Amino acid sequence: MPYLPDTHRYQNMSYRRSGKSGMQLPLISLGFWHNFGDVDDFDTYKNIVYKSFDKGITHFDFANNYGPPPGSAEKNVGSILKKDFKGYRDELIISTKAGYLMWPGPYGEWGSRKYLLSSLDQSLKRLDIDYVDIFYSHRFDPNTPLEETMGALAHAVKQGKALYAGISNYSAEVTIKAANILKSLGTPCLIHQPKYSMLDRWVEKELMGVLDQKGIGCIAFSPLAQGILTNKYLNGIPENSRASKSHGALQSTQITKELLVKINKLNDIAISRNQTLAQMSISWLLKDHRVTSVLVGASSVAQLEDNIKALENLTFSNEELTKIDSILAKLN
Ligand code: NDP
Repeated sequence: MPYLPDTHRYQNMSYRRSGKSGMQLPLISLGFWHNFGDVDDFDTYKNIVYKSFDKGITHFDFANNYGPPPGSAEKNVGSILKKDFKGYRDELIISTKAGYLMWPGPYGEWGSRKYLLSSLDQSLKRLDIDYVDIFYSHRFDPNTPLEETMGALAHAVKQGKALYAGISNYSAEVTIKAANILKSLGTPCLIHQPKYSMLDRWVEKELMGVLDQKGIGCIAFSPLAQGILTNKYLNGIPENSRASKSHGALQSTQITKELLVKINKLNDIAISRNQTLAQMSISWLLKDHRVTSVLVGASSVAQLEDNIKALENLTFSNEELTKIDSILAKLN
């Protein structure tokens, strides 16, 4: 049976403008870091891709190295896009990034023009598409002039291989410089992709203010702290969870007893709001309108559906926010 997207897919999703740009992103976007590599189950991830689009998730986020092995997420999902999404490319926002190690030698990582533009060509081949919507510098390279890295992003846009430029993991200070360079090149920075969750609030100090002032959007990655901010680890480490897998980026040692005490308390607040902890963790980020989108990962359709239900309750009372802050106080 060929895949036919749900005709009601735009009815229940909301979209937010990325900074001062013309681009709107769904409140929840789907990330392909884990769960879409050659080590994963094709039917499971194919159904996650289908369900996302059926629910109005129009934004799919990749990087050159997602897998494992690196590159396999782009290749695997590229084959699904080619087969099942042929008529829907204009309804999708596909992003990719370059910055971390992808191939051996001095041109296979960081921020040189050589690396970024070669990597984008490789990503386009793996994804089997003519252009990506957003091309990111995945991390700041202290040893390459920022003008060169930003120049490569702007060049990709001028070539038509990317429609917008983005940066990820850049500090507030470097973001200001990067945004100024991109603006001078006629390719404004569309979006910043930082790590942001209840367990990691570094962006609140300066970055969010900078993004707001510069008119740049914010898409928060690892909003569930890789699964810690769900009810998954409350009673130990389940089989097949990210923390149990040798290729998972989450180490079981990160899930300490002290942390679990706090997660349990957060879970109680989520229950009192009639939400799962995953849902509350997503809602908590979206309460800030400067957050354009929350970039979730999912290893099953059920997780994705759980996460999307966060949108049913995005408001918090002052009392709830104070309670959450006091639980998190010693962590951030
Ligand atoms: P999350 O914090 O959303 O963690 C996703 C994981 O949490 C899932 O794979 C699953 O793990 C678990 N999970 C998700 N939903 C539920 C649920 N409802 N109930 C229970 N468990 C759940 O995000 P990721 O860390 O995966 O990051 C999301 C995306 O952000 C990435 O795919 C990537 O696109 C981007 N990213 C960007 C980075 C950057 O440097 N720019 C770095 C990291 C991520 P399990 O396998 O255990 O079921």
